[in-house]
Amino acid sequence: MANRSKSARRTAKMAPNKGGARRGVFPGLLVAMTIDEVRAFAPRVGVLPLGSTEPHGPHLPYGTDTFQVERLCALAAEAANARGARALLYPALPITNNANMRAFPFACRVGVRTLVQALIDIAKQAYEDGLRKFVLVNGHGGNPGAVQATLREISGMDAMPFTCCYNAFESPEMTQICEHPGCHGDEMETSMVMALRPDLVRLDKFGVFPESQLRIPALAKAQFVRPWNRYLPKSAGGDVRLSSAAKGRKILAVEAKYIEDLLVQLAEAELDERFPYT
Ligand SMILES: [Zn+2]
Repeated sequence: MANRSKSARRTAKMAPNKGGARRGVFPGLLVAMTIDEVRAFAPRVGVLPLGSTEPHGPHLPYGTDTFQVERLCALAAEAANARGARALLYPALPITNNANMRAFPFACRVGVRTLVQALIDIAKQAYEDGLRKFVLVNGHGGNPGAVQATLREISGMDAMPFTCCYNAFESPEMTQICEHPGCHGDEMETSMVMALRPDLVRLDKFGVFPESQLRIPALAKAQFVRPWNRYLPKSAGGDVRLSSAAKGRKILAVEAKYIEDLLVQLAEAELDERFPYT
């Protein structure tokens, strides 16, 4: 920073005041707002994306889940706010639950109880700051248990009258867009990272990554925490060779529309004694 040229300094100083389009910035994007803008915005619903930092096979970066859920929520919040929702988009949590990945290096994680407590604390503070509706958008498969527990805990507290969770990338259209739906680091996720961060995709590592089969068939109907290194030895599973940025953009657009509608409808709904029922 110390060696920036005079012209670079001038550009940096002038850019925000020129009124030109700022890349990826829209009303409601908390990290880009000033305190005056936040006060004037008077948000009606909060949105907290949950990401993860973990391996996604030899071809995708550790930031995959966070990149995806951040962009998804930005698309949804921008479109919802263009319809008057006044949704305030929080920064994504990049480290969440990952105990099942502990055999892989630097699969970052906090404990289940830590995540539950962090989500409660964030929702409580949002309530103190005036929000009454809060949406968690989960973009990581290790989190639904903790998120469900969080919703139960919050529902028993005198804070944040309504909190809900949207589990991203589970809608039925996903299987129509991707020829080879897998579980992790698959065609769907590879396509999204190709759309979002093509600079971080290792095209030369594309292939078919093995998914281990259950030795005990009856376990298919039981719940257990899958040791990821045994389930997906390469840390990704499925055939990713037909992945494309175009598919990634389609997936993000389809999913964003669901969240956009959720934010608009939630923002407009009155929190009366029958909410959310008729
Ligand atoms: Zn992922």
